[in-house]
Amino acid sequence: MNCYLCNCELTIHFHFTDLLLLNSKREMICSKCQATFERIDINHCPRCYQSGFLTVCPDCLIWEEQKIIVQHRAIFKYNQAMKDYFKRYKFQGDYNLFNVFKQEFHQKRSDEVMVPIPVSTNRMQERGFNQVTAFLQDEPYLDLLIKKNTPKQSSLTRSERLNTENPFELNPDKKIPKKVLVIDDIYTTGATLQHAVHILLKNGAEQVRTFSLCR
Ligand SMILES: [Zn+2]
Ligand SMILES: [Zn+2]
Repeated sequence: MNCYLCNCELTIHFHFTDLLLLNSKREMICSKCQATFERIDINHCPRCYQSGFLTVCPDCLIWEEQKIIVQHRAIFKYNQAMKDYFKRYKFQGDYNLFNVFKQEFHQKRSDEVMVPIPVSTNRMQERGFNQVTAFLQDEPYLDLLIKKNTPKQSSLTRSERLNTENPFELNPDKKIPKKVLVIDDIYTTGATLQHAVHILLKNGAEQVRTFSLCR
């Protein structure tokens, strides 16, 4: 097998403990490529996982003024290697790259249901796939949210993003679970996830947490 990112040949090391623990985590990329990604360390905002904070960060305090207590978790920093990765995966449409991080999406507690952030039908046609549900293809999840067709988030300023109306509606065919973990790929302002949290809580969910691969 070859590294999904640089295509070098992977040397597979089998450890005796892997067999004992039935460890199914397989390496998808080489150690050199792995080293380019940076995990969020202990210095992060306890609410949104923004790096460089030991207490609640200014962004989360702004959310709190709007009566929102962010309950987010993330794994990696959105560094240059991660930006390059998402450029290939999302914008150049290299679908198979979901394999690199799919194992990081085993995140839900046993009583939670995972709900992915959807993409609009316009985006779906451009890209051919939803980059979030591609990560979740080995996991149980519920397609509860539907994205309305709105302008590209990246073409909006931060305040425009925060002020846009809720971009989601609920799938009328699905029942809303009590506990939800909303899943996204990248947390930037948090506005997208908070719109999702809001519509779920307003319609009967009792507890909604959020997760993204990067922050
Ligand atoms: Zn590599
Ligand atoms: Zn924060």
